[in-house]
Amino acid sequence: MQIRHPKRGGHAAWLAAASTLALATAAGFTAVQAEAPAGSGKPVTWEDIANDETTTGDVVGWGMGIRNHRYSSLEQINTTNVGQMKPKWSFSFGDEKQRGQETQALVHDGVVYVTASYSRAFALDMKTGKKIWSYTHRLPEDIRPCCDVVNRGGALYGDKFFMGTLDAGIVALDIKTGKVVWNKKFEDHTAGYTMTGAPTIVKDQKTGKVMLIHGSSGDEFGVVGRLYGRDPDTGEEIWMRPLVEGHIGRLNGKPSTPTGDPKAPSWPNAKDGKKVEAWSQGGGAPWQSATFDVKTNTIVIGTGNPAPWNYHYRSGPNGDWKPYDSLFTSGQVYIEPSTGEPVGFFAHTPNDAWDYSGNNPITLFDMEKDGKTVRAGAHADRNGFLFITDIDKLSARDGKIHKQEGTAYGIYPFVRNITWATGWDLATGRPNEVEGQRPPAPEKGQEKGKSIKVTPNFLGGTNWMPMSYSQDTKLFYIPSNDWTEDYWTENVTYKKGAAYLGQGFRIKREFDTHVGALRAVDPTNGKIVWEHLEQMPLWAGTLATKGGLVFTGTSDGYVKAFDAKDGKELWKFQTGSGVVSQPVTWEADGKQYLGIASGYGGAVPLWGGDMADMTKTVSQGGSFWVFEVPQATASAQ
Ligand code: CA
Ligand code: CA
Repeated sequence: MQIRHPKRGGHAAWLAAASTLALATAAGFTAVQAEAPAGSGKPVTWEDIANDETTTGDVVGWGMGIRNHRYSSLEQINTTNVGQMKPKWSFSFGDEKQRGQETQALVHDGVVYVTASYSRAFALDMKTGKKIWSYTHRLPEDIRPCCDVVNRGGALYGDKFFMGTLDAGIVALDIKTGKVVWNKKFEDHTAGYTMTGAPTIVKDQKTGKVMLIHGSSGDEFGVVGRLYGRDPDTGEEIWMRPLVEGHIGRLNGKPSTPTGDPKAPSWPNAKDGKKVEAWSQGGGAPWQSATFDVKTNTIVIGTGNPAPWNYHYRSGPNGDWKPYDSLFTSGQVYIEPSTGEPVGFFAHTPNDAWDYSGNNPITLFDMEKDGKTVRAGAHADRNGFLFITDIDKLSARDGKIHKQEGTAYGIYPFVRNITWATGWDLATGRPNEVEGQRPPAPEKGQEKGKSIKVTPNFLGGTNWMPMSYSQDTKLFYIPSNDWTEDYWTENVTYKKGAAYLGQGFRIKREFDTHVGALRAVDPTNGKIVWEHLEQMPLWAGTLATKGGLVFTGTSDGYVKAFDAKDGKELWKFQTGSGVVSQPVTWEADGKQYLGIASGYGGAVPLWGGDMADMTKTVSQGGSFWVFEVPQATASAQ
């Protein structure tokens, strides 16, 4: 299977890539096998999920805990012995279906649950890697994944494993057999809706109801992003919340309330001399995973770019964009779990003109600030800034939706040479934008506007790949990229199922020395404590451990371990394909293991311009690896 990448960033080449992906899925079929006895079938409880962060014998949720720290208190594998780490087993996902493996595995009751490209899932014996069951979702021919056929992981609750599917569905599988328990299609995939993110389990602290939370993808097709709350036992929808201002939500099968102001004043409309199309095709898809704040009973999730990318379609007369923030896109939204009502929103990029989708998960943590401990959210954004927000202010329940003003503790750059903003005004919570960084509209009679240089490019200072937080060093470990782009506007008209960008682009390198940069950042002052540079873009998540280590993967095929204190590379292993997934660690029978998927793909080879050319040499693949330090024992700690 040959996937073309856009040579000049034009829509035609990109759509050719999308349709090639669609053809390749035509052979998809459902196959469930029971080849070996499963784990004992022990159900996963809410307590297992709530305590996931501190229980080292399992990984029962995305983020290794509902606060998404991606931190483990295991220290058997540490800075002194990680150099002896070796593979214990490897499992091939098989088939001709390879492409990007962006998954995070779950581990429970002796079983590793891992998803793979093209909406597949596998249950593997944790000790040997032997397959217990596999599931391949039957995908229609006309799915529209914007950025590769990836899946970022599943969720566990009760006796079920849940995963999103590329045809805008979500499926629940029996954890013992892999058989489908329920299968819900939540939207029309021919309009561009898909699902790539891992669902999340939360427990409404008011009603005691456990819920399955998941979003949708599809901003590049001008869909209206939606977040869903479901009954995990039956899959029935409890609520649906659109994330474009003015659209009406659903609660218990009936229309509920508009999102924000029903008149949607943050989007220009007919009274501003505009057609209403921008408001009706708004984007804002929550395509990654939610975190959950038990104390305030709040779901926190990032939202995608406004559609179209071209901000002139979301500006008032004479190109005046300032009154129009395009709520609730490119930001972080705070949601009440009982009703799905938004209670807070922080825009990372108000009236986003650069596809700086704000989806990367928000990590909830305690921070020392002026001698006090404050409850904060941390989010590394595609726009190049790390946002440290006040989660108590943004989740306060007093009948209004709390926004920018006075709700951030700090906003710091984590990549070099950001061009679109010089920094942020913390009092107003708004960026100090640089004049001339919003690309001009095409001249009258022209199809394209003048090209400008923007840093970071639309693939971002970071992208979907989650950072980790060490509870020991109190640093965030951000997989970031230093790169730029040529960027120009194009005329566009909304057509269902077609790309709706209104922008052209060519991604370029910014430095000769590197593209990827793993950075350790202090959230109290934004200081970059260390950085490790890589030739190719970084596209994998990170994991921090009490063993003083940070783990991640590289596009040229390595799994690597670094000293969490100074960034020294201590170990690497070549997996044979690029690594763009999320590492996890756990212990069993007194031994610590590391698990990570290998298989190159994702947005870079499809959209990455010069970077797509650079990564052409990377072989495709699809496998899961488990590592151990053979000599290490519990007594070595
Ligand atoms: Ca755990
Ligand atoms: Ca986007």
